[in-house]
Amino acid sequence: MLSFCKICNNISEGEICTICASPNRDSQRVVVVEEPSTLYAIERTGEYKGLYHVLLGALSPLSETNGTELTIKNLIERLEKGGISEVIIATNPNIEGEATAIYLTRLIKPLHIKVTRIACGIPVGVDLEYADEVTLAKSLEGRREIG
Ligand SMILES: [Zn+2]
Repeated sequence: MLSFCKICNNISEGEICTICASPNRDSQRVVVVEEPSTLYAIERTGEYKGLYHVLLGALSPLSETNGTELTIKNLIERLEKGGISEVIIATNPNIEGEATAIYLTRLIKPLHIKVTRIACGIPVGVDLEYADEVTLAKSLEGRREIG
């Protein structure tokens, strides 16, 4: 039965997804995405060997509450446990995604963890899951520190 990974909220067959369970992943890096579909798009690039955190949505700039606050809280708890040196924010390049990136940066910076945002090779308004693999791989490579 499919459910969400207890660590990263990825879609998983067990309590922990295969990415979180893998000993071959770089556990110091976490890419934050809005949806599992973006996680799979990044996996398809074959360029990224770290871990993920799936927000299952984005913050609304009108500050309506939704489930995303909870997954952000889970992310911060994960970071507070230590061992993660870089958080790469790969939320979508739209208003909600940008608002979420800014909010996350504000929360993560005090933890003395490097925060980067993937580069803007992605056209504005296009969800990351629809970006082609080359563009996505390049935008990961060209990520910049923010905050
Ligand atoms: Zn997981």
